[in-house]
Amino acid sequence: MAFSRFAYAPAPESRSAVNIRPSYGLFIAGEWASPLDGGHFKTESPSSQEVLAEVSSAGPEDVDRAVRAARRAYEETWAPMPGKERAKYIFRVARLIQERSRELAVLESLDNGKPIKESRDVDVPLAAAHFFYHAGWADKLAYAGLGPDPRPIGVVGQVIPWNFPLLMAAWKLAPALATGNTCVLKPAETTPLSALVLAEIFEQADLPPGVVNIVTGDGGTGATLVAHPGIDKVAFTGSTEVGKHILGALAGTGKRITLELGGKAANIVFDDAPLSQAVEGIVNGIFFNQGHVCCAGSRLLVQEPVAEGVVEALKRRLATLRLGDPLDKNTDIGAINSPQQLEKIRELAAAGEAEGAERWSPACQIPERGYWFPPTVFTGVAPGQRIAREEIFGPVLSVLTFRTPEEAIEKANNTTYGLSAGVWTDKGSRALQVASRLKAGVVWANTFNRFDPASPFGGYRESGFGREGGRQGLSQYLKGALDG
Ligand code: NAP
Ligand code: MG
Repeated sequence: MAFSRFAYAPAPESRSAVNIRPSYGLFIAGEWASPLDGGHFKTESPSSQEVLAEVSSAGPEDVDRAVRAARRAYEETWAPMPGKERAKYIFRVARLIQERSRELAVLESLDNGKPIKESRDVDVPLAAAHFFYHAGWADKLAYAGLGPDPRPIGVVGQVIPWNFPLLMAAWKLAPALATGNTCVLKPAETTPLSALVLAEIFEQADLPPGVVNIVTGDGGTGATLVAHPGIDKVAFTGSTEVGKHILGALAGTGKRITLELGGKAANIVFDDAPLSQAVEGIVNGIFFNQGHVCCAGSRLLVQEPVAEGVVEALKRRLATLRLGDPLDKNTDIGAINSPQQLEKIRELAAAGEAEGAERWSPACQIPERGYWFPPTVFTGVAPGQRIAREEIFGPVLSVLTFRTPEEAIEKANNTTYGLSAGVWTDKGSRALQVASRLKAGVVWANTFNRFDPASPFGGYRESGFGREGGRQGLSQYLKGALDG
């Protein structure tokens, strides 16, 4: 499976860490319930196409039950509870995630297709960190600079995508719970399993019934949830297209809403940058998680004098990456999450070629079963081409060049999105100057794709609005807060 010159013996993580049930109900009011008016669907492993489990699909009556359970828990238990008591539950959840970290990592790699070294070293520890961080805030909200008596909003409907299933659940639930809200969460159809194990963890933590309800299903379940009149706030992470649709559907309802949407980040490399470090950053920026990252550095802007050298070094590095079994500890590139996503990537990559950009991938053996796309680099890309403008959400990099900082800033901002960007330079003053002029919610300097629960994350323009993480993230779940 490897396409490097080096041979590695297989080093698969054992599947014995997980005990996937043959079928899962909906998690409503602290109990596992069969759908009343929904149905069932199967979730498969994108690397082997093996069916992993049967999962319930929540219909309108099921969503209604979940929202009513959340309302009851909000009024009777969770909102009146002192913050220091809420904190105990949230700390407990964080510790249980750590205790079950191996299981969660294996499960996430099975259901999503991402390499185990990512789920083990990034997704699961960051998910635990989000619960720890927000547990710490639960009894200190009056000191967060968000007003003397910040109050929860009520029942929150949360809809998340498939690219970081557990981590996105943690980003949504931890701040909502710390601030005294109750939740109904809808995971993505192709990756429901880690959220269902999280429900088991809520049971283990004795979280009062109804504080978190998990309703699995497809986009229809999501649409029912956000439109439910019993929801006070919608928090959505996903595509710009669905985000716009939700915004339209909610207009005039008085519901609060935060949207975390797509991106087309520029990674800007100046000629004085530490180049080998930058090459690692570029690889991490776009090939991490198969490019299934909203803030992926999918456009490389490299200064002309170093462009050729950077692209050559990048290709040499890509030729050493290993694509294959997500459970193998040596795997760098896992499977594409679904056949639909694979089709989107193929179509956009074909458009890049048709529009005249030069396409390159390392020699690479693709496994017979499952959904795979090799790391791909397009050079000679013009700013107007689709691969330079549209979010591809796959391991595909478009390389553009620039001469002056002014030109770099102009090209970087020439997008309808504004989620993230990267700047690589030896000069701190240049990094700060360029960063301040980039229209992006997050700018990394001499690094890429770094996350911390204390650091707010979110976008501008078509990348959405609202922030997750830090005090800014807390404020989105409080009434009378600064920018909530
Ligand atoms: P998506 O199609 O928008 O789906 C996201 C979630 O919304 C899924 O749970 C989906 O259910 C649900 N959904 C679909 N239609 C809906 C509707 N009409 N009403 C309510 N919910 C609905 O996005 P995706 O393609 O799965 O995810 C990739 C996108 O997410 C990318 O564009 C990426 O940039 C973005 N993303 C952004 C961030 C960020 O923080 N800004 C983070 C991660 C991902 P189903 O799964 O069943 O369709
Ligand atoms: Mg799956």
